[in-house]
Amino acid sequence: MKDNSFESILGGILENYRALCSYCDSFFNAALKKYQKHVFCKASCSMCCELESVNYLEAFIIISRITTEKQKNNRTESKCIFLIDDNCSIYSSRPIICRTHGLALSSSEFSAPYAISCPLNFQSPSLHLDSHFILDSDTVTLNLIKLNLAFCLLLGDCEQGSKRVSLEEIAAGKRPEIFRKIRNYDAVSPLQ
Ligand code: SF4
Repeated sequence: MKDNSFESILGGILENYRALCSYCDSFFNAALKKYQKHVFCKASCSMCCELESVNYLEAFIIISRITTEKQKNNRTESKCIFLIDDNCSIYSSRPIICRTHGLALSSSEFSAPYAISCPLNFQSPSLHLDSHFILDSDTVTLNLIKLNLAFCLLLGDCEQGSKRVSLEEIAAGKRPEIFRKIRNYDAVSPLQ
């Protein structure tokens, strides 16, 4: 018989979120391997780290991981609250967008075939990028939206699906009201 308990449904959402993270990580690693001379991402580079907010699902995942890992922060203005000494202090639980930083991305919203947010990567004028190494950001975003909606529905308020949670509030220990149904945060095992 199908288990429709809160924990079981939450487990399914987290499993799918983990799969989406793995997909982005694998894509990134494959692009890095193929274009190692054109990708300058490395530990301690924090040029992309200006994230301010996340959806409820990713807020839940971050909160789950930092309940046991106290945050100390001395960040500079405009940088992400979780950036400490130029390193991500929640690296294993970093949001999906952080896992796509530095990649070439395609989207129906772009007028060009792809866009690169990093001013260092893939910049050689003679470089021809193989389309297999351009991430379809619309598909990734759509999957994340669906998972977040399922999570909000599980918490009883799918209208919150478009809302964002400030990373500063998460780091300050504030918990969104929508999380009142969650009794413990142990369901989230470390990602990568
Ligand atoms: S969560 Fe981590 S990787 Fe993402 S912007 Fe913040 S410091 Fe950077």
